[in-house]
Amino acid sequence: MSELRELYQTVILDHYKKPRNYRKPEGANRLAEGRNPLCGDHIKVWARIEDDRLADVGFEGSGCAISTASASLMTEIVKAKTRDEARAIFTRFRDVVLGGQQVDGAELASLGKLEVLAGVREFPARVKCATLAWHALEAALEGSSESVSTE
Ligand code: ZN
Repeated sequence: MSELRELYQTVILDHYKKPRNYRKPEGANRLAEGRNPLCGDHIKVWARIEDDRLADVGFEGSGCAISTASASLMTEIVKAKTRDEARAIFTRFRDVVLGGQQVDGAELASLGKLEVLAGVREFPARVKCATLAWHALEAALEGSSESVSTE
């Protein structure tokens, strides 16, 4: 188990140090910002929606390792997904990180790459860091450009 934890740490730090899709995508037609005042995280998420599909996704901002790694992983995972598919992934992820001890192995496995962030469910204060980019993406998918806060 501790080896697994170390692996997860390594993945999170890698995404923190080298965030993927850290840019405004060309032709972006959606933008939403997310702020987590408790931790000081601030993230902007852009998307280019074409025919209900996330043709491109990117983000910029400043935040802790958890919020940055989550945003980076998110951009990789939701790219080329439809809006509904992206929302379904967020719902599963949110259920796990808010699930505390109730989460079972099948739920964890359903997260795929995001499983590296599942450990935050033991640290309620960090759940907002882990879901910040996803809340911003959800707002961006709703259509209008806006700002979201975890408060
Ligand atoms: Zn944070």
